[in-house]
Amino acid sequence: MIESFRLERVEYVPKTLKPGVLYVAAEFDIAAHLCACGCGTKVTTPLGPTEWQVSDTAGGPTLDPSVGNWQLTCRSHYLITGGKTLWAGQWSEARIEAGRNAEQKRREVYYTARAHDRKWWVRLGRWLRELFQ
Ligand SMILES: [Zn+2]
Repeated sequence: MIESFRLERVEYVPKTLKPGVLYVAAEFDIAAHLCACGCGTKVTTPLGPTEWQVSDTAGGPTLDPSVGNWQLTCRSHYLITGGKTLWAGQWSEARIEAGRNAEQKRREVYYTARAHDRKWWVRLGRWLRELFQ
């Protein structure tokens, strides 16, 4: 088991990851680490407003929200907080499904809001152009 993580900012995520290192390739908005259970699987998490966020906190990196490796055989679920691994326990199928739906909802809301903003600006731009013609 990997009990602690340190942050390493990289340009590219290396092919071979070291255990206990949370790699952040900010340029590509992606973070990667080896599964904290020690199974050696590379876990990549996209970073972004509706994805994961990495903050460099005292003691080490914090990866938010939790990492649920439901697709791996180990099915480990944990949080990386202040450089420490916090085990979050197993989620039931229903809970996983609910989490997935919530994630989907969050994305929809975010992208709908963005599309809406864009339309609003387009309309304003058009209106201003007409006004000053
Ligand atoms: Zn694992």
